[in-house]
Amino acid sequence: MGLMIRSSAIHAAGCYTTTPIRKGARVVEYTGPRIQKAEADRLYEDSPITYLFGIGSRSTVIDGHGAAMFLNHSCDPNCETDESRGRVWIQAIRDIAPGEELTYDYCLYDGDEDEASCNCGAPACRKTMYSPEEIARRTRAGKRRKKR
Ligand SMILES: [Zn+2]
Repeated sequence: MGLMIRSSAIHAAGCYTTTPIRKGARVVEYTGPRIQKAEADRLYEDSPITYLFGIGSRSTVIDGHGAAMFLNHSCDPNCETDESRGRVWIQAIRDIAPGEELTYDYCLYDGDEDEASCNCGAPACRKTMYSPEEIARRTRAGKRRKKR
């Protein structure tokens, strides 16, 4: 399987395939050191961009290194993440042609930013990289604040 990192219309750099990928195939592992979430928060307190991936109960995060960290978010992605025995794989959810950019739905659930805006261009774009559950949670929290 051939992967290539080059500039992307979605965000800065993206990860592209140079070979066809079959639906269901594991494309690349999300590799990197495992660190505790509290440590990650300390390390990246002032960083606008992080490549952290919560695993298990999410008290541990992968501090991403390697090709997988270049995959951009899309609301209409061609890949998903599959966690298996503490390892995380990027897996194709449809057949992908050579030259296509690989994407998955980040479903962000934790962040200090008010919005992590999305520019993926999909017709069904949520306009944010937060998960639908997190959007609902934040909306409820906002309503509670407004009532006070
Ligand atoms: Zn989007």
